[in-house]
Amino acid sequence: MSSEKFKIIDFSKFSSIKIGPKIKVKIIDEENYNNEFLIGRAANTLISPNAKNLGILSDKYKFIEYKNGYLKVGGKVKNRVLYNFCKRKNIGGFEFLSHLPGTIGGSIKMNAGVKNEEISNNLIAVKTLNGWIEKKDILFNYRYSNINAPVFEALFEIKRNYDPFLDKYLKNLRKNQPKKPSLGSVFKNPKGDFAGRLIEKTGLKGEKRGDIQISKVHANFFVNLGEGKFEDMIYLINLTKKRVYENFGIKLIEEIKII
Ligand SMILES: Cc1cc2nc3c(=O)[nH]c(=O)nc-3n(C[C@H](O)[C@H](O)[C@H](O)COP(=O)(O)OP(=O)(O)OC[C@H]3O[C@@H](n4cnc5c(N)ncnc54)[C@H](O)[C@@H]3O)c2cc1C
Repeated sequence: MSSEKFKIIDFSKFSSIKIGPKIKVKIIDEENYNNEFLIGRAANTLISPNAKNLGILSDKYKFIEYKNGYLKVGGKVKNRVLYNFCKRKNIGGFEFLSHLPGTIGGSIKMNAGVKNEEISNNLIAVKTLNGWIEKKDILFNYRYSNINAPVFEALFEIKRNYDPFLDKYLKNLRKNQPKKPSLGSVFKNPKGDFAGRLIEKTGLKGEKRGDIQISKVHANFFVNLGEGKFEDMIYLINLTKKRVYENFGIKLIEEIKII
């Protein structure tokens, strides 16, 4: 008999965009990972009705340790929780996490960030299946890392104090973002340009399919107006890529993960 642990997650409630099935998800630790697709908070992942083989970290990876100028953080810790911890302890370098939904594990995989502030900046190493890997052995790029295994823990160095001005500046940048459920930016910005600007220029801002809308506030955010469906997202993603290519010869690449 299998001793595997699972939990049922209703992704129409759990995910940031409120789309997805109610399904069994395996609870992952260092002993039982078997190539499941890991979910943090599904803040950047669009989950299809047929998604299978999903995993979520066990609660033992929900911890923050602060010692001798270093932070050791479990991969399941929410970004906002680490932000609050750092602010309280006067630790700098994590201000950008205040309005970035998701978990530390997912954010490291995505190399999430705002402007020049990226999660890899203060990273020293991550603990994955075969122990610790140093940052120099991981490839990080704009919203990209080549990590293809669970991030169970991460070690960060603390380089400076908490910066309230930077915090305020980064918060203000959020003012042009829609409040309705979304996955953040759907596409990566092409070099030297902004996906949102290109989409807007094609006239697609505000375009709707079912209950999914290319946001009127920010065209790189696709928002769920209520009963938005996976298929409607895919339709608008494909339409947007086609229009941007026809108009500008630029191939937009999804930032979001689709499973
Ligand atoms: C309103 C809004 C605003 C946003 N703004 C920004 C922004 O400014 N900048 C930015 O960078 N992002 C932004 N995002 C996207 C999102 O916040 C980040 O990508 C975040 O890091 C996703 O974290 P998650 O844990 O939910 O990852 P998920 O969406 O669950 O997963 C993302 C990827 O990480 C992998 N993954 C998840 N957990 C782990 C783990 N423990 N180990 C290894 N891999 C894992 C998944 O398999 C998947 O490939 C925004 C999203 C929203 C909804």
